[in-house]
Amino acid sequence: MRMPLIAGNWKMNGSLALVEEFGRAFADVSLPVSVEVALMVPFPFLDAAGRALGETSVTVGAQTLSDQPSGAFTGEVSAAMLRECGARLVLVGHSERRTLFGEDDAAVLARVKAALSEELTPVLCVGETLEEREAERTEAVVLGQVEAVFDALDAAERARLVVAYEPVWAIGTGRTASPEQAQAVHAAIRGCLARYDAGLADGMRLLYGGSMKADNAAELLAQPDIDGGLVGGASLKVDDFLAICQSAG
Ligand code: PEP
Repeated sequence: MRMPLIAGNWKMNGSLALVEEFGRAFADVSLPVSVEVALMVPFPFLDAAGRALGETSVTVGAQTLSDQPSGAFTGEVSAAMLRECGARLVLVGHSERRTLFGEDDAAVLARVKAALSEELTPVLCVGETLEEREAERTEAVVLGQVEAVFDALDAAERARLVVAYEPVWAIGTGRTASPEQAQAVHAAIRGCLARYDAGLADGMRLLYGGSMKADNAAELLAQPDIDGGLVGGASLKVDDFLAICQSAG
């Protein structure tokens, strides 16, 4: 049985006041015990988020990391630093990192390995652009991104990942993949993972991301191969995010 994971991605948004607001709100509600919740906040808020959410079951995560352990890499943040600041998960290969910061599959793999080396859970983000979908290349693109990482890991490492399928055309656009469209790609990803190992495929949590909201989360999460959500915009409003978490229970 896969435990659903709802992960909020604040991107470069939020404030210490919002961190405090989330801390108070999550302390006051009981989340379904069968759901894991994580909040991926900007680096400077990690420590405060860890403290504000410390009495809750919410885990704190980061949005990217360096592929290097330390050294002269001005502006970068290492996996060990994230761990020391309380992060337990980290997004890797978010489409904004791939397109705006030029992270290709090799860069994504290096970051996944860096995360694993410090016992962080990498949430590997994959997804096709609208152009690729219209050219009927969705599966080729998405499975290619999955294989670029999974081919280079050993069995124990593979089992420590979470995969988030995020169609690029649905991120921040208000345009959500239909439950059927999302399920089809999730099933293809699970099929791809089964070629490594049936148990890996069975246990791997596959999140959907792309304009998930309180009013569409339930039908997406009801799909058999959708094990949670990566939530951008709606994770900045505490009531909306809480409603999504509740609908995963
Ligand atoms: C994201 O940033 O990963 C995301 C899915 O954003 P949004 O929910 O705003 O589409």
